Amino acid sequence: MQNQIVVYLTILLNLSIGNQLSGQTEQRAPCGQDFFMQSMAISKHQFQLDLNYFSALQRSQIIIPVVFHIVWNTNEENISDELIINQLATLNRDFNAQNQDVDQVPDEFQSLISGTGITFCLASETPSGQPTNGIVRTHTNIEHIGVKDNLFFSSMGGSDAWNPDQYLNIWVANTGPFLSGFGTYPGQTTPKKTGVVIHPTFFGMNGHPRYGLGRTLVHEVGHYFGLYHVWSNDPLCEEDDGVEDTPKQMHQHTGCPTHPQTSCTESDMFMNFMDYVDDPCMVMFTAGQKEKIWTNIYQFRSGLLSNTTGSYCINTKQKDDLSYVISPNPVTNDLTISFPFQEDGIFDIQIYDILGRLHKDQKTLGNGQIVISLQHLEPGLYVIIIGKKSKTFVKL
Ligand SMILES: [Zn+2]
Repeated sequence: MQNQIVVYLTILLNLSIGNQLSGQTEQRAPCGQDFFMQSMAISKHQFQLDLNYFSALQRSQIIIPVVFHIVWNTNEENISDELIINQLATLNRDFNAQNQDVDQVPDEFQSLISGTGITFCLASETPSGQPTNGIVRTHTNIEHIGVKDNLFFSSMGGSDAWNPDQYLNIWVANTGPFLSGFGTYPGQTTPKKTGVVIHPTFFGMNGHPRYGLGRTLVHEVGHYFGLYHVWSNDPLCEEDDGVEDTPKQMHQHTGCPTHPQTSCTESDMFMNFMDYVDDPCMVMFTAGQKEKIWTNIYQFRSGLLSNTTGSYCINTKQKDDLSYVISPNPVTNDLTISFPFQEDGIFDIQIYDILGRLHKDQKTLGNGQIVISLQHLEPGLYVIIIGKKSKTFVKL
């Protein structure tokens, strides 16, 4: 595998040089996915939609516990907790069609816009059950470790994956000058290397004018869930991405194109997160992509569904000392808050959704137990804050 990584990099170097010689404008560094696909000889049809799985779904959303491995060589690569939190918020916003710029989708595609129902949370427990903030920091002496197998092994200067059946592992590490990152398709690689790798330059809201909105990771996590690029490189326009509602598209787009662009017979959906346009110009997933993501999770990553350790969905970094119990969880109508010790008085209570929007703000008189009606809330994941303490719950 080490040799394969070197081969990919060589290909990328050649491509980059070729682009410079032919005078093409600067474009997004490749995410590496096509090279992996070619070398692994994986068929797109391996992941065709299975309607039986989809029709069996009972959930309104899926919560994905995430661990970030920050494997840094230079100080700049040791990114801040704040940047990690805002990247997580970007994932949640974009995967749920809550991004304000989704309104730039052309009229002909607007009916196809879909949230995916995926919520990403920082893991709150390690695989051995220890409390964690979901962020692992490792200093390494290895340059460009992001394109080396060392990345995935603590004994070799990297950071061991947490059980990939239970967590989405995201390594933030220098992948060199020609690769922004990559996400592994279901079944593509060994468990220890399953997840997403991203260059710190492309991570989070980092101020870069073209790739500074945290959408490189949105794209790579799309690959992790089994999505392909929306283009096919097929000059006959016969191949596609295996998603029914994305148009056939012959080639990638870069920069910020003007609609319409037509490479096959229909307008290209270059504003999809799975194209190569600049961050401000990729703004949507489709309903078909949501179906494919859910199907792939159920077929290939179902262990993620049984891990309940993801708990930080908004800007909560420290594990609170929680002294009260909420039940039931999930909840349908009334949420009961019980205190282990008699704790009377007036309590400030706020309830936020995963995007940080306030849904309830009240003072309640309690005498050891408080009951809150939640009938007005839409189904979803929420955070309840009582005083300075917080917990999450799911509304069914
Ligand atoms: Zn890609």
